[in-house]
Amino acid sequence: MIDFRSDTVTKPSQEMREAMINAPVGDDVFVEDPTVNELEQFSAELFGMEAAIYCSSGTQTNQIAINVHVQPGGEIITNEDSHIYKYEGGGISKNSGASVRLIRGNRGRLTLSDVEQWINPDDVHFPVTQLVSLEDTSNRGGGAIYDFEEIKKISTFCRKNNLPLHLDGARLMNAMVENGIDLKEYASQFDSISLCLSKGLGAPVGSVLIGKKDFIKKSRRVRKVFGGGMRQAGIIAAGGLYALKNNVERLKIDHLHAKALESTLNELTWVKEVIPVETNIVVAVLKDESQRDVILEKLAQKDIKIMAFGPGMLRFVTHLDIIENDIHATIEVLKKL
Ligand SMILES: *Cc1c(COP(=O)(O)O)cnc(C)c1O
Repeated sequence: MIDFRSDTVTKPSQEMREAMINAPVGDDVFVEDPTVNELEQFSAELFGMEAAIYCSSGTQTNQIAINVHVQPGGEIITNEDSHIYKYEGGGISKNSGASVRLIRGNRGRLTLSDVEQWINPDDVHFPVTQLVSLEDTSNRGGGAIYDFEEIKKISTFCRKNNLPLHLDGARLMNAMVENGIDLKEYASQFDSISLCLSKGLGAPVGSVLIGKKDFIKKSRRVRKVFGGGMRQAGIIAAGGLYALKNNVERLKIDHLHAKALESTLNELTWVKEVIPVETNIVVAVLKDESQRDVILEKLAQKDIKIMAFGPGMLRFVTHLDIIENDIHATIEVLKKL
């Protein structure tokens, strides 16, 4: 089976499994798991930030960050397509009692003028704007990468206005291998960064939340409250550490594979357009909306799994368990569909 549904479907390689089996462990709630501690330190240093905390999922790291940054009744500025709003089960209101200012934008991204326009004035009528959250790359935006100049402008504005800036960097490494920006310079624009280890990086479980010491200390408390305090978590953290050390540069291969799918899809008569591919996500818009499920079914019969991505839209995600031959095979099937 060739599984393009998501880059979360990757399975740990033999080498990663060995790193996991051999990982020294301890009780992480006591901060005594050497492998978790190493992963946290490695992540923080990689981004030139003070500290990090290992959590069970990207939803958890985002929700913890929101909970630490925002008070009940406060408001978060984010894109209407952002994962924190759309795909975290209403956690912003449920976990943190916050409201959201949703911005319509270009492929899941915000601009400085969005933030300038929607930060609320100091007036009792309005919720207090307490956080700006960006997503890089943007999932709903078809893997779109932020313009770093725009991030710097947003960051400067946020700092002037004492507004924390969070990054949902679930697929941040996909952006970083493409734009070649220095990780530390990039990270210095943000107050907190969530990074998924279980997407294209190929670890079985987990995300890290990175930030200042004080922020991570508060996050550790919230993680416990959310039921996310884990014990001998070094077993799974070892997979994440292995992923960060070995699987970053190879993301470029996934991007080449995505580009190959894009070119083929662009030639097909039944495809209206393909959202220009920037990283590992390919979104095709169909000419005839009603054909979506037919195509999904036909591909499934050929053992190719992809995902519906809204009305008349299909999504392919490339990842480390998809090899070049899978791409060739898929291209042949698509051409004959
Ligand atoms: C996958 C993803 C997350 C986190 O998802 P989990 O499944 O909870 O790890 C967060 N943000 C974005 C943009 C994602 O794609």
